[in-house]
Amino acid sequence: MRLRIRRYHPHFEPPSIDMEYEISGGGTLLEALEEIKQKRDRTLSFSSMCRSGVCGSCAVRVNGKEELACTYKPKDGDYIEPLSVVGVLRDLIGDFNSSLATLKKAQAYPVQMHSGMSEEDERHIERQSDCILCHSCYSSCPVYETNSSFLGPFALSRAYRYVADSREENKKAHIDAVVQNGIWDCTLCGNCTAVCPQGIDPKNDILVLQSWAAKFGHVNPNLGNFGSFGLEF
Ligand code: SF4
Ligand code: SF4
Repeated sequence: MRLRIRRYHPHFEPPSIDMEYEISGGGTLLEALEEIKQKRDRTLSFSSMCRSGVCGSCAVRVNGKEELACTYKPKDGDYIEPLSVVGVLRDLIGDFNSSLATLKKAQAYPVQMHSGMSEEDERHIERQSDCILCHSCYSSCPVYETNSSFLGPFALSRAYRYVADSREENKKAHIDAVVQNGIWDCTLCGNCTAVCPQGIDPKNDILVLQSWAAKFGHVNPNLGNFGSFGLEF
């Protein structure tokens, strides 16, 4: 079985080239990458840790779609690339500094939280708490691709988690933090939801955040565009 891998090194000219490798096949993509590194090319660089779909560190793109290397079973001719949109440090290793910084910008942490939570309340935010920060959703997001100030899917889903948390008393602080370069900029394309290995639905979380923002008095600036079609409210 053959795999084509996009290699990247910032100091090479050209910095990116595609290379083909023969692998024995039958295992996961992560096992194939390890086989290449051990037997064919020791310079191949990639990230991995838990090897069981829990830590999110081995996310790559396969034939243009985000996958966890430790759970994906490769097929002959697959094309493997690093995640898109987020930067690349080397080969398949992403540079997540900018995307991780969005968590702070979106205030995706407790602000004014009292203790105690019922099991039912916990169920409302269980899914968003399962995010493994694999960055697949950022890689698939067309808005983050063109606007690096966009807060992006996982930061907005994490913000939703704190607004929906029954213990959080200052929900407005969270909403105020996701209005600019956030919920109104999302095109609701659903790419992030389609690629999430944890079944998180950032698109729906953003929709809910938009309705909460309206309740707190924020106006969707895109609604002004309807004026050009002659609609009146
Ligand atoms: S739904 Fe919004 S956040 Fe998700 S990928 Fe599309 S534009 Fe990005
Ligand atoms: S929301 Fe899903 S796709 Fe995005 S970082 Fe978290 S686990 Fe990965």
